[in-house]
Amino acid sequence: MIRIPFLDLKQVNAPYMDALKDAATAVVESGWYIRGSYCERFEKEFAAYCGYAYGVGVGNGLDALTLMLRASIELGRLKPGDEILVPANTYIATVLAVNAAGLVPVLVEPDEKTFNIDPTKLAAACSEKTRGILAVHLYGRLADMRSIWKFAGERGLLVFEDAAQSHGAFLGDRKIAKSAAVAYSFYPTKNLGALGDAGMVVTDDAELARVVRMLGNYGSEQKYENRYRGVNSRLDEIQAAFLLAKLPHLDSWNARRREIAARYCSEVKNPLIRLPEIPADLHEHVWHVFTVRLPNRATRDALQKHLESRGIGTLVFYPIPPHRQEAYAEALEGTLLPASPNFPIAETMADTVISIPVSQVLTDVQVSEIIGALNEFVC
Ligand SMILES: *Cc1c(COP(=O)(O)O)cnc(C)c1O
Repeated sequence: MIRIPFLDLKQVNAPYMDALKDAATAVVESGWYIRGSYCERFEKEFAAYCGYAYGVGVGNGLDALTLMLRASIELGRLKPGDEILVPANTYIATVLAVNAAGLVPVLVEPDEKTFNIDPTKLAAACSEKTRGILAVHLYGRLADMRSIWKFAGERGLLVFEDAAQSHGAFLGDRKIAKSAAVAYSFYPTKNLGALGDAGMVVTDDAELARVVRMLGNYGSEQKYENRYRGVNSRLDEIQAAFLLAKLPHLDSWNARRREIAARYCSEVKNPLIRLPEIPADLHEHVWHVFTVRLPNRATRDALQKHLESRGIGTLVFYPIPPHRQEAYAEALEGTLLPASPNFPIAETMADTVISIPVSQVLTDVQVSEIIGALNEFVC
């Protein structure tokens, strides 16, 4: 029996039950359910929180990624078939979004220390068709944005960010600016989660924000006038109201996650378990998940069983990298590059990583119990 689940969403939301019920009631009574005043307020507050001028609420994180790329095409900043560098070890949504926008994802190996795209490998992945980089802040740790912006600046590439796992992670000045646009997901398990699907694009670019908004609304700004072949991807009022109620607590949740991560890093002493690096600037990591590595797959699977036997839930992010998925089994040139990809670092990570509970609802006693179980693991 799992006594310490990997993540218990009921427990995550329970302390805010009254505020969430009030939010739901207010929306139901308002009679306005899509893209109304709650959405507008949440867009403003969340964009400001991220240090950006504009926020556009959309249906989910995948749409946020896809629409920021599509809008860049509609504005002539990218064109169909352009190549976009993406990390080889990410959730498949990142890669799917590039394809969905009509662009070509070119996979780049991660840095073993940070789990994020390796800036030293960007140059080798570039071709004459390369026009952008879509960085992912995997597990809640910011990618090396300073190196990525510098590289992109030298080559005239656009930079985008997939921040679906990194709400509240910021570079020193609290702003991850300089990128063309940043996509967020508010899927219920994220650091800031809705009670359903939701997403947002934040940007300093008024034109880009306007086109993302149109694309998510059938390509229309003026009712029944369709400038683009858009989609239906809008942020529900009820989700925006929930997110408005939760946003003020995000920093304190992330602080608690950092506290738990720091305890794991200092108290887990098992030589089989390789701990993640804590970045020098603590604000660059919000520990969406706490991921450790084992020497090989068999040991990883054994640790998962061991923790399960102690009633501790774990998850693997992600057991199969995108290029090994059936969806990309017949990846040909023009869909995913290179055509027969081989990414030993990303593949070894998929075989050896495991994530242990780190959510803000864990008690100190539970954290101690998890540390004890990790230290007692033998193989
Ligand atoms: C969750 C996630 C997404 C997709 O978000 P959805 O809201 O589920 O569409 C994209 N990228 C990463 C890295 C994610 O973790």
